Amino acid sequence: MTDNVINTQVLVLGGGPGGYPAAFKAADLGLDVTLVDMEKNPGGVCLYRGCIPSKALLHAAKVLREAREAAELGISFGEPTIDLDQLRNFKDKVVGQLTGGVGLLSRQRKVRFIQGRGEFVDPHTLSVTLPGGETMQVNFEYAVVATGSRPTTIPAFEIGSDRVMDSTGALALPDIPESLLVVGGGYIGLELGSVYAALGSKVTVVEMLPRILANGDEDLVQVLAKQLAARFEKIMVSTQVLGMEAVEGGVRVRFRSPQGDPFEETFSRVLVSVGRKPNSAGFGLENTGAVVNSKGFIEVDEQRRTAAPHIFAIGDVAGEPMLAHKATREGHVAAEAIAGHPTAYDPMAIPAVVFTDPEVAWTGLTEMEAQAQKRPVQVTRFPWGASGRATTIGRSDGLTKLVIDSVNERVLGVGIVGTNAGELISEGVLAIEMGATAGDLELTIHPHPTLSETVMESAEAVSGQSTHVYKRK
Ligand code: FAD
Repeated sequence: MTDNVINTQVLVLGGGPGGYPAAFKAADLGLDVTLVDMEKNPGGVCLYRGCIPSKALLHAAKVLREAREAAELGISFGEPTIDLDQLRNFKDKVVGQLTGGVGLLSRQRKVRFIQGRGEFVDPHTLSVTLPGGETMQVNFEYAVVATGSRPTTIPAFEIGSDRVMDSTGALALPDIPESLLVVGGGYIGLELGSVYAALGSKVTVVEMLPRILANGDEDLVQVLAKQLAARFEKIMVSTQVLGMEAVEGGVRVRFRSPQGDPFEETFSRVLVSVGRKPNSAGFGLENTGAVVNSKGFIEVDEQRRTAAPHIFAIGDVAGEPMLAHKATREGHVAAEAIAGHPTAYDPMAIPAVVFTDPEVAWTGLTEMEAQAQKRPVQVTRFPWGASGRATTIGRSDGLTKLVIDSVNERVLGVGIVGTNAGELISEGVLAIEMGATAGDLELTIHPHPTLSETVMESAEAVSGQSTHVYKRK
């Protein structure tokens, strides 16, 4: 039996990777916390419909690829078979385990978790509609809004067919379509396209801009694009989708080519992944005094405080980049600010990782940004063909690069493409946050043989030569 009215010090609305760490940190700092989310357990988009299920499926894709390529090592399994029900069960089990774990952690911390849909009635009151339809009221001193984001939709693509999917639909893995069109060459489209391609679908990617992953440095993206060109049916850039219609057994899609010519093609399914929109409307935010900008993000200061000083906003709803780890850091800052600690959200580098195979990761200043800012930098690159470790695992398709300040040799940016780039990038984030110079990376002894040596060897090239690359002067 739930009390109809609850008084709490800190209300957190939304239990994603922004909201639940904010609630946990506030509880750890001794505050009374109530966390409200529509799901049975905290977890948000990331755990239920984003980071986690996509990575579980990408793991399966990697296993498939490795099994197919093992013949090169003299090991043969034959063509792998796929039990789709079992794969779905694996993914759902992973999601259940992690969301259940977060629910347990919430109870251990005595965070009051309420499953329901919240709506602000006034600056200090949230009304919650519970799953059974009854309502309750939460009176709060402080609130943290962490309502996240949802896929961007395009009216011309809404044709009332379940063959046109968003990322949530694609993660449900309804079947292995014979052909799949991925609209949008960003990280979500490329990750999910990679899963379907590994399962056996003929995947086509269409991107309006001149290249996929347009905000990553071209030399890094090229390494991935080369691999994808072999695994995907095709990647069409500078190409626009004009519209689509449901036809027997598929979706007919109309395109405009880079030269401006219209053409049509039919696919078994379409995945629309053209970006995400903040969830800043429809839950009474206007009754709190918080202000939303023209892009739909809630405006916040460096402590993530909104225009209403007792209300904070974090995660996807509070601005780019829409990434889980950024949301978590903001959540901690908001909780610390509420507890009265001197704190600020002031990162020097936020890593971005594309979990394709190979992975692409970058952090800090990209070479592209340095050029746009006309900032004097030195860029060094270490090709993985020269890495002992990359060679032993048959993965010399990689590159590590550093963007170094020409004046003081500080590390400004790190970019890596290659297997496990997502794990390797953390050294770059730490280097930037600690104000490390290229010399610091060069003098740090890295274990041999590892892929991490590629960071050290890129740093060696700042003052001289990488040990395993010789460039004629
Ligand atoms: P969300 O995770 O969106 O959570 C918001 C929560 O608020 C939801 O649970 C929602 O139910 C709840 N909510 C909203 N309104 C209300 C209301 N009125 N009442 C009650 N509850 C409400 N990011 C990464 O960093 N790495 C990745 O690998 C990655 N992969 C992704 C893959 C996919 C397919 C997708 C879609 C996203 C991915 N992301 C990834 C992005 C990541 O999921 C988001 O950046 C992250 O979830 C944002 O966290 P958040 O706390 O802001 O909100």
